[in-house]
Amino acid sequence: MKHNFTAGPAIFPLEVLEELAGGILDFEGGGLSILEVSHRGKEFKKILDESLALLQDLLGYKDEYEAVFLYGGATVMFSLLPMNLLLPGDKAGFINTGVWSQKAIKAATYYADPVILASSEEDGFSYIPQEYAEPDGLRYLHITSNNTIYGSQYHHYPHTKAPLIADMSSDIFSRRFNLHQFGAIYAAAQKNLGPSGTTLLILRKDLLAQCRRDLPEIFSFQKHIENGSLLNTPPVFSIYGCYATLKWIKRTGFDQIEAANEAKARLFYAELDSNPAFKGVIKESRDRSRMNATFRAVNQEVAARFDTLCAHNDIVGIKGHRLAGGYRASMYNALPLSSVRILTEVMREAANGL
Ligand SMILES: *Cc1c(COP(=O)(O)O)cnc(C)c1O
Repeated sequence: MKHNFTAGPAIFPLEVLEELAGGILDFEGGGLSILEVSHRGKEFKKILDESLALLQDLLGYKDEYEAVFLYGGATVMFSLLPMNLLLPGDKAGFINTGVWSQKAIKAATYYADPVILASSEEDGFSYIPQEYAEPDGLRYLHITSNNTIYGSQYHHYPHTKAPLIADMSSDIFSRRFNLHQFGAIYAAAQKNLGPSGTTLLILRKDLLAQCRRDLPEIFSFQKHIENGSLLNTPPVFSIYGCYATLKWIKRTGFDQIEAANEAKARLFYAELDSNPAFKGVIKESRDRSRMNATFRAVNQEVAARFDTLCAHNDIVGIKGHRLAGGYRASMYNALPLSSVRILTEVMREAANGL
């Protein structure tokens, strides 16, 4: 077994992998692979229906929101959101906390001038801006819940006048949150939710009612929702994987998952803060991500020793993003505490002699 700290596509719970492996060979004893049945057949209908029911159950909503599985990753959502939600003359606000925020901002420029309320760019995205004024009349305000690349995370979501929309790709279901604080949330599957391919969107109905209708159907939230994620052939395997993961989350329990993530983060950051060989990237400890911890070695020798020790101890996926450098330990829901313990032991060994 490897200790898989990869940022995404990322580690799965073993039980989920086993269920998916079974379903690829023979879905629920029906004699067919889930990959070789119609997306309009009863097998996939069950997957979609039960996934939507699980989402309602886990997030505590009824018919005030619509959930839909879309295609193309979170990146497609960066364009679909302004395309669907901004009417001529509308303005959308953004908090710029990293690469994914920037991409969402850039995509919005095709539809309106984005209003950037606050940014931590000049400080290397090393914190989450807290103080800023929100102008009146924004159509929505977009945030990135967890900054996968730089390693910061919102631990309290801002209270906004405009509907709040969050990219939760890298921390959805890692902790309890109040969906009713949001106009919409979305998440690409491949971190905490399932295999890459689909993106989950949960959109409040009053916002849906205001969406543009004069769009090509394939880009229209209205059309995808009306057709129950079956406007065209959806990413069937990715959605099947989300279904299996949602069942695992339900079995494990939100509180248990949140407590496990807290325990992993506490163990990791306690080591980081007491180890002279490494330094954290995020300035304010209150903004540190529980999902993606970013850090650097204090010098080249430490880095070389640490790389070798990681390889010897089956630690994989620890290298930082190419834009951020250094190291990044991604500790998604499926990562066991024991993997974090091995990592902290290796960090201590790398510090020997300092
Ligand atoms: C991974 C990630 C994305 C990118 O998702 P794609 O599926 O590659 O489009 C966007 N936002 C965040 C926060 C991410 O972690």
